[in-house]
Amino acid sequence: HSFGFRAVAAADKQPMVNEVFDKVARRYDVMNDFMSAGLHRVWKDAMVTWLNPPKRPDYLVLDVAGGTGDIAFRIVEASGRQAHATVLDINGEMLAVGTERAAKRGYGDNVDFVEANAQELPFPDDSFDAYTIAFGIRNVPVIAKALSEAFRVLKPGGRFLCLEFSDVEMPLLDRAYEFWSFEAIPRIGRAVAGEAEPYRYLVESIRKFPNQRDFAAMIAAAGFDRVTFRNYTGGIAALHSGWKL
Ligand code: SAM
Repeated sequence: HSFGFRAVAAADKQPMVNEVFDKVARRYDVMNDFMSAGLHRVWKDAMVTWLNPPKRPDYLVLDVAGGTGDIAFRIVEASGRQAHATVLDINGEMLAVGTERAAKRGYGDNVDFVEANAQELPFPDDSFDAYTIAFGIRNVPVIAKALSEAFRVLKPGGRFLCLEFSDVEMPLLDRAYEFWSFEAIPRIGRAVAGEAEPYRYLVESIRKFPNQRDFAAMIAAAGFDRVTFRNYTGGIAALHSGWKL
């Protein structure tokens, strides 16, 4: 398969990523449901369960590439509307959808939104109790930079959690998944949304992302301790955890 973005250098990747999310911001949730057959909801709930945010108003979470607020809202709910979540995203369109939603759901005091790059976080060292990122890190041009920024802004004792599409480790499921992602998704995307390109980009970015073990090694290389991961749905998604000790 060659979709034309294989050879895109890190520096040129961000504008393309931004264009994709500009295009899909308003129908982003529908797209998520459709691409993951609704499973992203289950995986996100599992992520927040693993985080297990305490019911404390001084518990501060940074949700990077937080888009329309999906993870942040779950964290706030899981903490009994006590914790505070900062949603950071490079894309203003995605944040605009999130901001509207937060207001509608009455999360005004619990959530705020920051437009910035995961590679250069606009926060001092040791600021947050937890750093979460869901289906975001594979879009960041230089992953190692995002990881070292995550480490920097976490307080000592802080938790890093990353949910991302990963390598399917079940023999039959991997074939079905290949077919689903490379053949079906771009076609259905074109039929439903009128465009195949954003969907092709997303599928291609999943394919290029490091596997579970390699990604765990990158997290450890950024300074994190006790790095572990869990697979969901045979590895279609994986959740990596690490601690700043
Ligand atoms: N976390 C949300 C979720 O799980 O529903 C949104 C995930 S969406 C697939 C990926 C998000 O990453 C987009 O909102 C996009 O704008 C954001 N993004 C891409 N590159 C980024 C960067 N360099 N820094 C911060 N956010 C970025």
